[in-house]
Amino acid sequence: MSLYDVIIVGAGPAGAAAAKAAAKAGAKTLLLEKYPTIQANKPCGEAVSSRTFETAGIPIRDEFIVNVAYAQVYSPSLKRIDIKEKGYLINKSRFIQELVVHASEYGAEIRVREEVKEAGFDKEEKLVKLKTIHGEYKCKVLLGADGYASAVAKAFGINEKSEPIPTVQYIMVGKKFKDVDAVRFYVANKWAPKGYAWIFPKDEKIAEVGVGVRGGPAKLFLDKFVQDFKEELGGAQIIDYRGAPVPIGGMINSDVQDGLILIGDAAGTVMPLTGGGIHSCVASGMIAGEVAAKAAQENNNSKERLMEYRMRYDQYWGDRIKKSLKAMRVLERLSDDELDELADMLVDSDILDLANGLDIKRVALKLLSHPRLAISVAKALLV
Ligand SMILES: Cc1cc2nc3c(=O)[nH]c(=O)nc-3n(C[C@H](O)[C@H](O)[C@H](O)COP(=O)(O)OP(=O)(O)OC[C@H]3O[C@@H](n4cnc5c(N)ncnc54)[C@H](O)[C@@H]3O)c2cc1C
Repeated sequence: MSLYDVIIVGAGPAGAAAAKAAAKAGAKTLLLEKYPTIQANKPCGEAVSSRTFETAGIPIRDEFIVNVAYAQVYSPSLKRIDIKEKGYLINKSRFIQELVVHASEYGAEIRVREEVKEAGFDKEEKLVKLKTIHGEYKCKVLLGADGYASAVAKAFGINEKSEPIPTVQYIMVGKKFKDVDAVRFYVANKWAPKGYAWIFPKDEKIAEVGVGVRGGPAKLFLDKFVQDFKEELGGAQIIDYRGAPVPIGGMINSDVQDGLILIGDAAGTVMPLTGGGIHSCVASGMIAGEVAAKAAQENNNSKERLMEYRMRYDQYWGDRIKKSLKAMRVLERLSDDELDELADMLVDSDILDLANGLDIKRVALKLLSHPRLAISVAKALLV
């Protein structure tokens, strides 16, 4: 049975970044992916900021970019707030593959069609042992980057899960889509209770249209949304129809164990209010890969040693995820009328601060002057 310093299960954004970071730090690294191809195997809007590339250490090149777009946020009565910051719709498969190219250049081994079935910490040998459909491996530190339904978490007996929001997305063609330089978010209970609906045009011929919804059947809400926007979407054909849960309940507490760190969606490292996870999952992979490599080289894979990952991640990302979760908990209680009133008060920097868990206190203080939102939003954000 081959022994590795670090094995990573799952080659999504978190696992690919972790493989790069662990191999770069000099660890004998193995990346295992269950699918035959390393690519974006899950539905995703694929929208990111330029900072995602910085965190991943990937220079922005045309081959990664499908569209450059600004964001527009719409209230239930279609009041619009323009977000002036430029964002990217990426080719997520190519982005993940580039991380894996880097991992390979740093010496990581990569195996596809290698689904992990069993894993556990051997207390006597102080090593993690795992079985895939083809073989057996052992390592000093295992990084579970296998997404929301993490088989690794299950194998380690970790039952804690971040609250999911079910999402459904269509990729639609056959219409001339308008405003292709804007990705659009529709925050309204009538279209997406406790979530939002979106239209992300990749160009004027193809667009992603989806909803994330809590407390109702996502597909029905998506079909209603398409119907309500029939001028823009009516008659378009669906060429891709998939759904997946997004962990928006914040990070789990049991993500670090002896010999194990869960990262990415498996650990709930997603910005709750937006459901955006690519950047924060890449960040979790970069930090965890480095910590795992160092811990393995020191021959100390104890939970205490691996907690360096949480300390470093929490300082910036964990704190932002908590603040974004707080903002989500406040906004999810608002009626459509209140969401409209909120839209009258907010400008783009306020939306960015709330969504990304940045200066939510500043936004709360601004809203204190509003007669109704002072209590339902401002005070709740300040608690
Ligand atoms: C509809 C939808 C739209 C989204 N839109 C956006 C967006 O626009 N922007 C954004 O930033 N985020 C978005 N997200 C969130 C983003 O997709 C995720 O947060 C991100 O992909 C999580 O990365 P990950 O590496 O943790 O997990 P995943 O991307 O889920 O990758 C997990 C990997 O592990 C592999 N795997 C699973 N089990 C095993 C096993 N047993 N053995 C080996 N390999 C295994 C899988 O095949 C997969 O390759 C969206 C999500 C959804 C569902």
